[in-house]
Amino acid sequence: MNRKNIIILMIDGGRLDRALSSSTFNKLKNNSAFFSQSITYGPHTIAAMHAVFSGSYGNRTGTNSYWSTFKFKKNKFKTLTEYLHDLEYHTLADVVNELVIPKQGFDNFLIHDELKDDLTLRHCNLLEEMKKYNSEEENFFLYLQYSNIHTGIMNEVLKVYDNFSPEYFSNKEKNEQRYDKLFKDAENYLEIILQKIRTLELNKNSLILVMSDHGISVGEKVGERAYGAFCYDYTLRTFTYFLYPEIHPIEIKQQIRTIDFMPTILEYLNIPISEKFEKIDGESLIPLILENPIEEKFAFSETGNPLKDKRPPEEPNIKSIRSSKWKLIFNEYDGSKELYGLESDPYEENNLIGKNLKIEEILWKEIQNYL
Ligand SMILES: [Zn+2]
Repeated sequence: MNRKNIIILMIDGGRLDRALSSSTFNKLKNNSAFFSQSITYGPHTIAAMHAVFSGSYGNRTGTNSYWSTFKFKKNKFKTLTEYLHDLEYHTLADVVNELVIPKQGFDNFLIHDELKDDLTLRHCNLLEEMKKYNSEEENFFLYLQYSNIHTGIMNEVLKVYDNFSPEYFSNKEKNEQRYDKLFKDAENYLEIILQKIRTLELNKNSLILVMSDHGISVGEKVGERAYGAFCYDYTLRTFTYFLYPEIHPIEIKQQIRTIDFMPTILEYLNIPISEKFEKIDGESLIPLILENPIEEKFAFSETGNPLKDKRPPEEPNIKSIRSSKWKLIFNEYDGSKELYGLESDPYEENNLIGKNLKIEEILWKEIQNYL
């Protein structure tokens, strides 16, 4: 055994603002590289996580919507799991359903029942199981999805309201409280799981990635009661903490993309990217972790807004291109555009489109690469 293990703890639907004000998450900052401006490709699990596993945007991999798990071009994009499996890592995932991440390369692909299973207990048991492999000089990759924020939102929001329900959007305080309670449970989960990792001493020989796939609305914008309908920062901007034994704690404030995680993990493990597959979109963040500047890249995101329909469309109809300072949103379904100055207007309330700003032209040209 000469490589580090990989553990991904994915807090599904975790909001960045809650992490920033959480003592549990803030403790993580003391021994991690914390990326406080991580942008997801898709504001829903399937598109978001296929992009993470492939290091590439769904407009190229084929998985760009709720309906496209099986369109993933597995012969053209090699997943993180496959890289690790090729090196004889024991690979195990525990997820909410079989569509949320690419299955390729997993030795064990477990599905939990988000309504019944105790995820804390279940994931502690899986960590113990991984410890056994590790004691026998085998490496492992463990992917754990914490799905219970989603469970609460499904029961109390998705099933009760639609994207335009006045009762929902006029009760922001109630929405905040509902979300806070769910986030608190996620914090408790994370505390216990991290403690278990330390007790098993897996923190000494593993890279641990604590991340969220997308945020969830608390009623910011009429037309989106949860996530997946729009490309605003309350769902696109997520949290990311890389923890590994020799890390020097650092907060990286410049924008990065969740497609950068896969090449980061590969570089950390000294695994070369295969040239037999399509070139990936992401790039390693190791230089930033080591305080070597790299140029900030634009982040592309897209989603399928169901508009007045019950189900989201087959193909995305809203796209956005973002830097630390600006975001251009293109609503393809009606041709309209939005432009926001994120530094002075983080809640994206003041649309600056058509105001002759030079940045509009630059971003419009940039987004053409993805249309
Ligand atoms: Zn999700």
